[in-house]
Amino acid sequence: MPELPEVETIVRQLKSRARGKKISRVKVLDAKAVNLRVKDFENRVRGKIIKDIKRRAKVIIWGLSSKKFLIFHLKLNGRILWTKDMAVPRKKTRVVFDLAGNNKIFFDDSRRFAWVRFLDKKGLDAYFKKQNFGPEPLKKSFTSRVFKKMLARRPNSKIKPLLMDQKFIAGIGNIYAQEACFYAGIRPMRVVKTLEDKEIKKLYQGIKRILSEAVRQQGTSSDVYVNFFGKQGGYVAELKVYGREGKKCQRCGTIIKVTKLAGRGTRYCPGCQK
Ligand SMILES: [Zn+2]
Repeated sequence: MPELPEVETIVRQLKSRARGKKISRVKVLDAKAVNLRVKDFENRVRGKIIKDIKRRAKVIIWGLSSKKFLIFHLKLNGRILWTKDMAVPRKKTRVVFDLAGNNKIFFDDSRRFAWVRFLDKKGLDAYFKKQNFGPEPLKKSFTSRVFKKMLARRPNSKIKPLLMDQKFIAGIGNIYAQEACFYAGIRPMRVVKTLEDKEIKKLYQGIKRILSEAVRQQGTSSDVYVNFFGKQGGYVAELKVYGREGKKCQRCGTIIKVTKLAGRGTRYCPGCQK
């Protein structure tokens, strides 16, 4: 599932190509992917300019010239792809946006969980209010003091599932939660109230460093993720525990273990994660 670095990469690339462009045509190929009736969706989006492109948590937001919005969630396998004018939709293409200037954006998903919604300002606000996302970890306002206070409110939670809770902190999923725990030298199943101050500091530092480096490397392609230009992300080479079960820890040489935690496969090093 794309997490903050993957979605942020797509947003930056989208901005570089699609901001200020007019959507000359839109074709919905799968009614399940949109929140309105197909014709209605197409009519409301066609002819509008993409004024603004933003990310909040794992959600992509397009502000349209009509003061309406399109929001996208890629869920497990969704992709937003920049394609040439002559490109033909594939079986997994759900929506096609034709842009003025002979380019298209394909919204693809082989699993049919990803969605795009057309919303007015009220609908947009209602959506985000309901989601109640936690702070953005790469923002300056997310300081180590803020993080410590957030943790103090959740003393009995296990740390890794807590990091993946979008209402606690936005954008972290199964990959980066495991990597952050490894960075901090703490086991993913540790209960928050057992964490020492220096472990919390290290975890905070890990979250900031890992996410920024992953954005710099355009994400992790450990599954089907590719960026807006169809390229894989480079962070996979940096992974220390994710996907490395049975291999030697690069820090201490112990074999990386895998366990289930809150239903999700979770890797850690029994040697250097306490
Ligand atoms: Zn180790």
